[in-house]
Amino acid sequence: MSGIDDLPPLRQVIADHDLRAKKALGQNFLLDLNLTAKIARQAGDLTGLDVLEIGPGPGGLTRGLLAEGARRVLAIEKDARCLPALAEIAAAYPGRLEVIEGDALKVDPLAHLTPPIAICANLPYNVGTELLVRWLTPADWPPFWSSLTLMFQREVAERIVAQPGSKAYGRLALLVQWRAEARIVLSLPPEAFTPPPKVSSAVVRLTALPEPRFEADAQVLERVVAMAFNQRRKMLRAALRGLHPEIEEILVSVGIAPTERAERLSLEQFCALARAVKAA
Ligand code: SAM
Repeated sequence: MSGIDDLPPLRQVIADHDLRAKKALGQNFLLDLNLTAKIARQAGDLTGLDVLEIGPGPGGLTRGLLAEGARRVLAIEKDARCLPALAEIAAAYPGRLEVIEGDALKVDPLAHLTPPIAICANLPYNVGTELLVRWLTPADWPPFWSSLTLMFQREVAERIVAQPGSKAYGRLALLVQWRAEARIVLSLPPEAFTPPPKVSSAVVRLTALPEPRFEADAQVLERVVAMAFNQRRKMLRAALRGLHPEIEEILVSVGIAPTERAERLSLEQFCALARAVKAA
């Protein structure tokens, strides 16, 4: 018995279906069902929620999400070898698990799920940041998801929650924190995975704010932040020179010293700057 359901232990699932991890697919599996249940619990109360999972692999986290009471789980997996193992889970939870074989970057979850939707995944590291950026930049806000509970390399997790003045602070922190609440809820050493990756990992939980924390045009804000951090060691008046011919005056008009550097500006200051640039 596995502990959270009557399905076989994951080591047996891996052996039965010959699921040797492939590096190219970012496969570092979680085989401890207590740990996958713990990650699923970080997603909050799942009762009555549809859940999107990217890269279920042999299904450890999928089992946790279903055992935690998710109404329905849509799991998108690129590796066809995992499908028989996932079919066993679907059979144990009739009508609650839909598995799509394919690339998560190409599937529209709304064709399969109904909001409110929680997204929970031990993501393949090679597509994790791309998916996060996509989920944070929809055409309209609030987005189709209410929360994201995602595994990242520890270094990426730290960039997501970083505060001004730290080395990790930059585009990702500002993009995330403008429209979401983000915190690291779990840290995992490499040995938690099979095979172990080279670096430590962390689970980040993000909740979508009903509206952005401060007013700003999304595109202008993104441009200002990108330019400011492209040359993060330069003073803002130099880094942002290409943005507007009167950038020094604009900076002063919102109370920012033109000699200041990007990594010391708060989100609120970046939003004020984006508004002033747009109005200029
Ligand atoms: N969730 C499983 C676990 O915790 O044991 C597996 C995690 S493993 C880090 C990442 C999974 O994502 C692998 O099963 C891999 O095949 C799958 N994957 C990689 N790229 C993908 C993509 N573009 N779309 C969907 N799944 C993908």
